[in-house]
Order: sequence, then structure tokens, then C-alpha cells
Amino acid sequence: MDEIEVAVIGGGAAGVAALRTLADAGVDAVLLEAKDRLGGRAHTVHHAGMPLDLGAGWLHSAPNNPWVAIAEARGFAIDRSLPRWREQWRELGFTKAEQQAAGVEFERFDQRLRTLEGDCAADALDPRSPWNPYLEALSGYINSAGWRSVSASDYLAYEDAAVQTDWRVESGYGALIASHAAQLRTALATPVSAIDGSGRELRIETPRGTLHAARAIVTVSTNVLASGAIRFDPALDATLHAAVSLPLGLADKFFLALDGAEQVPANAHLIGNPRSATTATYTLRPFGRPVIEAMVGGDGAAALRDEGLDGAAAFAIGELCTLIGNDWRKRLRLVAGSGWGRDQHVLGAYSHALPGEADARKTLATPIDERIRFAGEACSPGNFSTAHGAYETGVAAARALLAAR
Ligand SMILES: Cc1cc2nc3c(=O)[nH]c(=O)nc-3n(C[C@H](O)[C@H](O)[C@H](O)COP(=O)(O)OP(=O)(O)OC[C@H]3O[C@@H](n4cnc5c(N)ncnc54)[C@H](O)[C@@H]3O)c2cc1C
Repeated sequence: MDEIEVAVIGGGAAGVAALRTLADAGVDAVLLEAKDRLGGRAHTVHHAGMPLDLGAGWLHSAPNNPWVAIAEARGFAIDRSLPRWREQWRELGFTKAEQQAAGVEFERFDQRLRTLEGDCAADALDPRSPWNPYLEALSGYINSAGWRSVSASDYLAYEDAAVQTDWRVESGYGALIASHAAQLRTALATPVSAIDGSGRELRIETPRGTLHAARAIVTVSTNVLASGAIRFDPALDATLHAAVSLPLGLADKFFLALDGAEQVPANAHLIGNPRSATTATYTLRPFGRPVIEAMVGGDGAAALRDEGLDGAAAFAIGELCTLIGNDWRKRLRLVAGSGWGRDQHVLGAYSHALPGEADARKTLATPIDERIRFAGEACSPGNFSTAHGAYETGVAAARALLAAR
């Protein structure tokens, strides 16, 4: 490999955004990606002609989400129908009155978080509430971890930055993000193993050779950073400590093909068991397609981690049959699913700050060596855990390098 001005390491939303920003400014930049595809935790696969997102799927905070304008410019159709997470199809296993009581408890929890003395979100749970398992399940989807592992102030920073309007990309969020690097210089299947900053130039080591770069933007996940998969010389202890304070939890999605789908309304929602912390959330017939999209997070995803995809599907089918009836069993079949915790280039779902560690996001985004900037969802002060937060950090890191040129 040769010499380059900027090496972008990691081709998820942050890396793609950084590369595009640099290339548009005329910078000689290359993106090095460990996998044989772009998109990272935004990954669209296809089954029977249907695009299915195994990671990011929702354009969260849609009115403020930069991917919306990119989608429109690139000709990706956006579905503006809103999620129905707060509805339970036919009130199955969760009556209107129960939904309301659980919703009120979540609002009270949010209020208690705002006046909490410490920073461990679990301390804001009311020990007498019957809805704590439900709140834990929500934490699994939102934080990819239970409230006991979540910084209250960090969570509130997300809550206060978010706009509760979520849209979707019909051809897939992963496909959109990957397309943003079209025609740019990328090297796939090129995992970086070391960044040596001891000389005038950075030496970036990969199995395909050593690249010399003036600067680098590193966008790998915090769990990958913390794993030591990339060796930094000199060591960047404060950065790595920040990564450890912002771990990825677990969340996974899987899709079940549904025979006789026409009996089910498009985009209906079910929570499997609102009295369980390990339950899954289901979107029935997303976009009107003949599939059910299931998602588990936090304790639910951890419980299924060792079961593999078949075990996860059996769990989901079991929950669905309890709600809808056993004759559904023969109508459902696993077609695709994720295992983000087992993916060696990601090692989890999305970042949460541990209690007392919300400042780690700023530490991670602040370079120790001016030539090496970090980006990625975990660096975002308020839009972490999302693909648009990742995008914003990639653009910011690229602009900072441009300003320092
Ligand atoms: C199940 C699930 C559902 C989600 N749902 C949503 C959602 O609906 N909406 C939303 O906005 N967000 C969602 N997210 C979160 C979103 O996917 C992430 O926050 C975002 O995609 C992270 O982007 P990133 O660029 O920071 O990191 P990544 O996507 O992890 O990108 C980092 C890249 O670095 C690569 N890499 C790792 N090691 C190396 C190395 N040594 N050398 C070179 N490359 C390396 C990786 O392969 C990867 O491609 C979801 C995530 C999951 C897991």
C-alpha cells in the first residue's frame, strides 16, 4: 500500500460520512473496512426480494436526521408512517388499561430520573411497581442493556435530543448508508491491526500491507476499541478508558416469514409479554411485507445469546403463539437474523454510558494525538446509539481534520 492524506478506519455510518466529507473537499482519503461490505451496524440483507435491515432500520428523529436528505438525493423512497410501538394489536395480552398504566409508569420513571441524586438509572425504578419488567424490556430496546448499567444523565441527554418521529427507508437503511460511499476509494476486507504514531507519519498496519497516512479517523465500535483489536503506539490510554466506559450492550433482530399474511394488518405491533424483562417486540408485516420483524435487547438478547438464531426464532414463535394461537406455529419460519455480539468487528449493539461515565463521550471525541480523531455513534453527545448520531460524528471529525490542514 502507499501514502495517503487521511485513512478512515471503519465503514459504518460514521466512516462513510467522514469519507464523503473528505472526498467532497478534495482530500486524498481512503476508507479501510474489515468486513467485505460497507454499512457496519446498518446492514440490509435480501430475502425473496425483500430488503430486511438486521441493524439500524428507523430514521430516528427524522425531521433532524441528515440521512433523510441523503436518501431523497439518492432516490431512496422514505416511508413516513410512524411506528406503533405504543399500540398492542387487538390488545392481545395487554389491555388498553394496562398499556396506559405501563405508559404512566414509564413517564413517572422519566420524571424521577430528572431528580435522581445518583447516576444509576435503575435507582429511579419504583420497587413497588408491577411494571418494572416492562420498563426493563424497554431499556433493552433503547439502551441495549438494563437500567442498572445505564447512566441516568447520559440517557436523559438522548431523550432530550430526540424528536419522537421515526421513518424508514423502503430499500433499507443499510443499503442507503453503503450507497453514500459509492465511487469513493474504499478497501474492503482490510482490518487495521495497528496504528503507529511514533514517527512523522502514521503507519497503519493491515494484513494487506502498511499504509502511510498523515491523519486518521477511527470509527470502530467502543467494544472493538476496548478489545485491543487495534494496537496504538504510543498507547492512547484515556481514549481506551473512555471506550470501556461506553460499552455496547446486546440487541438483535430476526425476521420470520409469515404464511397467510393478508389476515394481518401492515405495521401492526405486539410486545411479546409486557410482564417480562426478556420479551421481544414485534412489527407485523413491516411495509406490508409477508414477514414479522422481531427485536430483543438487553437482558432479552443476553438470554438468547447462546441459543443461536434457531433458538431465538423458537422463542419468538413461542411468544407469538401464546398471544395469537398455536396454529400460527406452522405459518412462521425464520429467514434472517443478526448476532451482533458474536460479530468480531462490532462485538455488540450500541453504546450506553455506565453510571457516572457520561463524560466519556466527550473524552472519546477529543483527540490525544491531533492526527488521530475518533468518531462513531458513541462519540455523539446526544444522538449516540443511532446511525444519524454516527453520521454527525463522522462529518465533525472530517471537518476538524480539514480545519487543521
Ligand atoms: C439490532 C440493532 C438495531 C438498531 N436499530 C437502529 C435504528 O433503528 N435506528 C438507528 O439510527 N440506529 C439503530 N441501531 C444503531 C446503529 O446501527 C448504530 O448506532 C450505527 O450504525 C453505528 O455506526 P458506526 O459507524 O458508529 O459504527 P459501525 O456501524 O459499527 O461501523 C464501524 C465499522 O468498523 C469496522 N471495523 C471494525 N474493526 C475494524 C478494523 N480493525 N479495521 C477496519 N474496520 C474495522 C466494522 O466492520 C464496521 O463496519 C441499531 C443497532 C442494532 C445492533
